[in-house]
Amino acid sequence: MTFLIPSHADRPADDPIFALNAEARARAAAGEPVINATVGALLDDAGKLAVIGAVTEALREVPPGAGAGYAPIGGSADFLRAVAADLFGGASDGPEVGWAASAATPGGTGALHLAIKNFLEPGQALLTSSFYWGPYKTLADESGRTLETFRMFDERGRLDTADLSKRLEGQLGRQGRALLFLNSPCHNPTGYSFDDAEWQAVVGALREQAPRGPIAVVLDVAYARYGATDLRAVVERTRELTEGRHAQVLYAWSASKSFTQYGLRVGALVALHPDEAERRRLESAFSYSCRGTWSNCNAGGMAAITRVVTDPALRARVDRERASLKALLDGRVARWNELAAPQGLRYPRYDGGFFTTVFCDDAPAAALRLKAEGVFVVPQAGALRVALCSVAERDVPRLVEALGRHVKPPAGP
Ligand code: PLP
Repeated sequence: MTFLIPSHADRPADDPIFALNAEARARAAAGEPVINATVGALLDDAGKLAVIGAVTEALREVPPGAGAGYAPIGGSADFLRAVAADLFGGASDGPEVGWAASAATPGGTGALHLAIKNFLEPGQALLTSSFYWGPYKTLADESGRTLETFRMFDERGRLDTADLSKRLEGQLGRQGRALLFLNSPCHNPTGYSFDDAEWQAVVGALREQAPRGPIAVVLDVAYARYGATDLRAVVERTRELTEGRHAQVLYAWSASKSFTQYGLRVGALVALHPDEAERRRLESAFSYSCRGTWSNCNAGGMAAITRVVTDPALRARVDRERASLKALLDGRVARWNELAAPQGLRYPRYDGGFFTTVFCDDAPAAALRLKAEGVFVVPQAGALRVALCSVAERDVPRLVEALGRHVKPPAGP
């Protein structure tokens, strides 16, 4: 007999992606020439985790007392200022830095959790695109909320903002409020980055639905540093939502990918609001949730990230090292784009980022056949996720060729 509560008694043991990765690594360790395109972290061409050395150095130099002590519940003020500077510093004299009401979180995951807890009542559903990062659902589930989707791509393969608007309208009618998660640039799992016209249409849909009830929109920018265009354009394009109080704009910020510190667990939720009193209310709500969930975050990690953002010399080194990692990844993306279409693979526009997704009938069976010949990808509903972040450029031709043999593209547009 189990002492677990019934709703938790049959939880799946392992995240399926971690399980696939473990199998790929075991076979590689036994000498098989495995291509492991499952890992959600940037690896160098030797298969080692790519780490920005200047960040490691800053971590080593954190004074012992600063790392050992408790951090303030919502994060230290200098860390939160550094996050705002990192997100908005380049946005040509925009007001966002002054509008920020934030809390430190364990990674971007913690930021998503805070958003779910503070912008949806228990039992309500968050809204995201039909392809989405699986933990969105886990996070909703764990918090007693659910997840609904809008169709991500229309017949032309572009973001389906008409369906987004329709689903928002439905949710606002049923729930009286909505929480939308948007992951762009470099969407996980599809690799898609919304272009300017798509952002404009998103803003239009939110403005259209805003009179029906409060809408909070989380911009999950975990991969923004690897995108083909600067985040500045997104910040500027969405500014009118905050200015006009049409929606509560939130950024889920993470040091995991942008500073190559996945294990450090440093992130933040940044809400934008023009009114001082509302910013205080947002910060109180966030820090209350922090206290009631993880208490406070990694003090040493926050201190190191603050330094690499604010110390001009260290920052310049981080920017240089990150640029060379981005160039490594861009090389793989370019090779992929050159080879994949001639092999008959169908995938969304892909101009940068850790992943792409190949549309595929019968994805679980195709993934099994690929695995049998040492090519590991992650099956999803109607697609296979391919993590180019963990595949050396020299292996891209073999990867594409194997996908070309095993993937049956779905019929229709
Ligand atoms: N959002 C997306 C889409 C992700 O893929 C990830 C990590 O894989 C995250 C957010 C958050 O990562 P972390 O909690 O490590 O910052």
